Amino acid sequence: SKLKIGLLFGGRSGEHEVSINSARAIAKALQSDNNQNKYEVFPIYIEKNGVWQATDIAQHVLDSAQPLSSDTATPQQLWQFPPQVTEIDVWFPILHGPNGEDGTLQGLLELMQCPYVGSGVLGSAVGMDKIAMKTAFAAVGLPQVNYMAITRAQIYSNPCVFPKLCDEIEQNLSYPCFVKPANLGSSVGISKARTRQELEKALDHAASYDRRIIVEAGVIAREIECAVLGNDNPKASVVGEITFNSDFYDYETKYTDGCSQMCIPAAIPSHISTQIQEMAIKAFTAVDAAGIGRVDFFYVESTGEVFINEINTLPGFTAFSMYPQMWQASGVSFPELVDQLIQLALERHT
Ligand code: ATP
Ligand code: MG
Ligand code: MG
Ligand code: MG
Repeated sequence: SKLKIGLLFGGRSGEHEVSINSARAIAKALQSDNNQNKYEVFPIYIEKNGVWQATDIAQHVLDSAQPLSSDTATPQQLWQFPPQVTEIDVWFPILHGPNGEDGTLQGLLELMQCPYVGSGVLGSAVGMDKIAMKTAFAAVGLPQVNYMAITRAQIYSNPCVFPKLCDEIEQNLSYPCFVKPANLGSSVGISKARTRQELEKALDHAASYDRRIIVEAGVIAREIECAVLGNDNPKASVVGEITFNSDFYDYETKYTDGCSQMCIPAAIPSHISTQIQEMAIKAFTAVDAAGIGRVDFFYVESTGEVFINEINTLPGFTAFSMYPQMWQASGVSFPELVDQLIQLALERHT
């Protein structure tokens, strides 16, 4: 009989719309000829307010690609799971960012005692929090740009502390630097600061998203990504490059058609590609990721240096996203990729 796949999408995050598009592509692949008669898809949609919606409503969101927005939910509504939940054989969560990619949802699926695609609680949480992630990367010797971890309290608690903090950032990292909320994605809340005034504004802005903030030294580099697939013996895809004309790869550049280009495989020396693939697997293992992960790098062409930027444990998964495209270029088609991810979920949870 067919395996019932709980395709969980939407979610309480800024990447809600991307998630809908990822789920559309995955639903299509699960029902494609390649996976014929293997899977039955149960779409389950989490509204922006956190309410879970099953079959009809979820299917409508998938078909229309339009988010559904009802009013603010009461806590009682949040825990009214659709009855279909008990019939699911394998969950496929494809929610990006907080409340989906960060281990919270994975904890719930763990409690449900049902296999699910992707990283567990630890891998998801460490992979989402840029400060914890960098600590894990440093522990295995992965090269990174210099950074400082900061809390919201340091920014607001004592007015005498803030100028000293900015002085310290200037001394340690100088300009330009990148200020980021620790737990986010799609470049939301990230600013590039070139002056003291911009730094102060950037810290205030990042603090409006998260109580944990990271400030990094800015590098001038090419942006290379690598897709990882597997559990205990993960494999790396060919690497790809992202190019764009804007100042950095910000939200608008990511989601406006024509603002960025992908080059797969990346036109870089083969020993650099190999080095990036090895680093990607090391990073995947360092945070205890499972199943899927996209690792982002900075390649400084002038010096030949490679720095790891971050891992995304539930990367964008639309037909046009880097993760599936890098696998496509490595000989794994979109439907095969989705099939392998489900098999990896079963392998990990049985
Ligand atoms: P994603 O959507 O991949 O999850 P994110 O929100 O986690 O992104 P980052 O990947 O950390 O954010 O940064 C977003 C972009 O900002 C990078 O792709 C790059 O263009 C720029 N950037 C970030 N940090 C640096 C840095 N230290 N030096 C130069 N550019 C940077
Ligand atoms: Mg990220
Ligand atoms: Mg992300
Ligand atoms: Mg990134």
